[in-house]
Amino acid sequence: MGHLIPFAELARRLVADHGLAATLLFAAARSPPSEQYLAVAASVPEGVDLVALPAPEAPDELLAPASVRDRVARAVASSVPLVRDIARSVAATVPLAALVVDMVGAPARVVAEELGAPFYMFFTSPWMLLSLFLHLPAIDATRASEHRDAAEPIRLPGCVPIHTHDLPGSMLVDRSSETYASFVAMAKGAGTTPDGILVNTFPELEPAVGNAADGVKLPPVHAVGPLLLTRPISNSMDQDHYCLNWLDQQPRGSVVYVSFGSGGTLTWQQTTQLALGLELSQHRFVWAIKRPDQETPSGAFFGTSRHGAAPEFLPDGFMERTAVVGLVLQQPWSPQAAILGHASVGCFVTHCGWNSMLEGVFHGVPMVAWPLYAEQKMNAAMMEAHAGAAIRANVRDGRLVSKEEVAAVIRRVMEGDEADRMRKRLGELRDKATHALSKDGSSTCTLAQLTRRWKSTADSKSMELDVNC
Ligand code: UDP
Repeated sequence: MGHLIPFAELARRLVADHGLAATLLFAAARSPPSEQYLAVAASVPEGVDLVALPAPEAPDELLAPASVRDRVARAVASSVPLVRDIARSVAATVPLAALVVDMVGAPARVVAEELGAPFYMFFTSPWMLLSLFLHLPAIDATRASEHRDAAEPIRLPGCVPIHTHDLPGSMLVDRSSETYASFVAMAKGAGTTPDGILVNTFPELEPAVGNAADGVKLPPVHAVGPLLLTRPISNSMDQDHYCLNWLDQQPRGSVVYVSFGSGGTLTWQQTTQLALGLELSQHRFVWAIKRPDQETPSGAFFGTSRHGAAPEFLPDGFMERTAVVGLVLQQPWSPQAAILGHASVGCFVTHCGWNSMLEGVFHGVPMVAWPLYAEQKMNAAMMEAHAGAAIRANVRDGRLVSKEEVAAVIRRVMEGDEADRMRKRLGELRDKATHALSKDGSSTCTLAQLTRRWKSTADSKSMELDVNC
């Protein structure tokens, strides 16, 4: 979801604001894709052609269980011939303005080369992660030890220092492992993107966007964010959702919204402590709950996301005791953008997926950062130390966050001077995010510049074709 949603928004803006036609190719991580995934994909507006890439052949998971990254890499490799066919059929009628791929999409570069089209990457995470990616080959060449043993943080221009415990999991494995090799290969792929990288951030949030360390050469970087879900997906999934009516009844800024994204789950024990902590905080809440994951200690990525009856995994009597002040949403999908945009919401407990954090910023909601997987710890560090938009729950090394800690961190975001300062800061960031998307804002201007360049290249190519004909 964290990739599909900004891509859909990018395609929408290219069509609606910049006069291009767009074809959005998408593939789901799961087969068959979830109902929500298909609904998000289907919500792209007119003018965007949607093409579902078929799921790759089912891998023999029992013989060799594959990591998410490996499964994605396999899916990408097997999709290249189809991407070529689709791009060729588009280019048969009009010159292809550009091919823009996800961070895992480097193998499709051959298609752009064959068609003579500009090739871009759209990085759907923050600049800080992109910067780590782009500097990784240089860091890798100079570090002798394992990253996990490094005493010093990694310092990138204009970014908060990245401490070892905040590095993405793929950097903490043995550097001789395949997982690490494929991570470095992905980083190198990004670093050699010929025409440039679009990144879902904006300069007021990450002022150092595009800055390189001495001696490191980066491809051109374009901050096109914040591209986020601003339209309802469907009436039943969003606008008419009963939680919005419930929020209408609550005082302004009084509700804590808790969600761990489309794939994040907690352990049973942590779910209990979170429930008791919410109760202890004495604040109102909306909790988009997922069935706990029994096996993994610190939460899972695309873990067992079954949705059972809440009382089975919530503390005895919790639902009854909190019935007046709390709403537990047990459906697989909550209308997050509408919830965060509601005036009653005053705090967002988030797993730090980048889209969720951008949505928190866009709606001016102070956050409790509770990272679970991937680059989320870095996102949490950036939002806390750099942007002043979040306070981190102490989830280091997968430790259990007690109910007292849950209540305390929520109170810090909801009550007192520190909370006032955060609200003020979030108000400023919200205005800047809104401005970035306005007619003369950075996102619109950057996309306008890019599309002008793409159109003029495509026009000169079509003139060449005419002359040759
Ligand atoms: N989302 C939503 N309802 C849900 C779960 C997720 O609307 O119940 C949206 C959320 O608003 C965000 C995206 O799905 O736009 C999740 O992206 P993110 O990068 O935050 O995390 P991911 O789910 O990819 O880990």
